[in-house]
Amino acid sequence: MMLSIPFFKKMNLKCKKLLTNICVLIAALLFNQAVYADSADLPEYCSLQSGLFLNGLEILDSSGNPELDQSISLELTHIAESFKVLPGFGFYDDSAAKNAFAARESIIPDTRGTVIFGKQLLANELARHKWGGLAVAGIMAHEFAHIYQMQSEFYELLLGSQPTHKLLELHADYLAGYYLGLKRLRTNDTEIDIKAFLDSLYLKGDTHFYSRGHHGTPSERKDAMLEGYKMGLTHNLDIHEVAIAGMNLVKKM
Ligand SMILES: [Zn+2]
Repeated sequence: MMLSIPFFKKMNLKCKKLLTNICVLIAALLFNQAVYADSADLPEYCSLQSGLFLNGLEILDSSGNPELDQSISLELTHIAESFKVLPGFGFYDDSAAKNAFAARESIIPDTRGTVIFGKQLLANELARHKWGGLAVAGIMAHEFAHIYQMQSEFYELLLGSQPTHKLLELHADYLAGYYLGLKRLRTNDTEIDIKAFLDSLYLKGDTHFYSRGHHGTPSERKDAMLEGYKMGLTHNLDIHEVAIAGMNLVKKM
């Protein structure tokens, strides 16, 4: 049953459809409690450091909109199934700097790893484009891709002796694109427009080539995502095979 609520009424119909045209499973697992982690510093955008960066962060069990929470939990179910991971998920107050993170730490029982999503980032992406819901799904898939990397050999293969996180980040963009390709096939929505996510990635690209947190240039991020999207549309492979294809691609970029 789809409920009509003020928030959704304000959203574009396409966006609403995207966020609701999905099925269920791990909602209770993902949104089961508010958690206070121990204490400390926030990382830079989408930091991958394991260690203690969840310290001091209050992790919230709601975006503030129960219906939106429900839609997001349905999307997360698909992402988790696609990547064969089951991290905990929560929101946090990112009013100081819009952000989302993946962490090795497991802080919600019966989950492995944690993804946290800023409430401001969520609101901004939804408001920025009529397909903002797809950008949100893409960013969530990017963070779940980091969980997959951390829980497989790909983290070391892509980081190894690399001076920056660029390969890890572009690989996560590739896998996020792959997920959106799967989503396009699953929903059979021929009007899906991935431009919102492309623009979002482009804006989050950087030219800090010598910074540890370098994510790839705006163009590299778009290219990696598009290649992954094509893979999702055309190949029904195991996530491990997809990850290998993505690794081979980003190593050439
Ligand atoms: Zn990332």
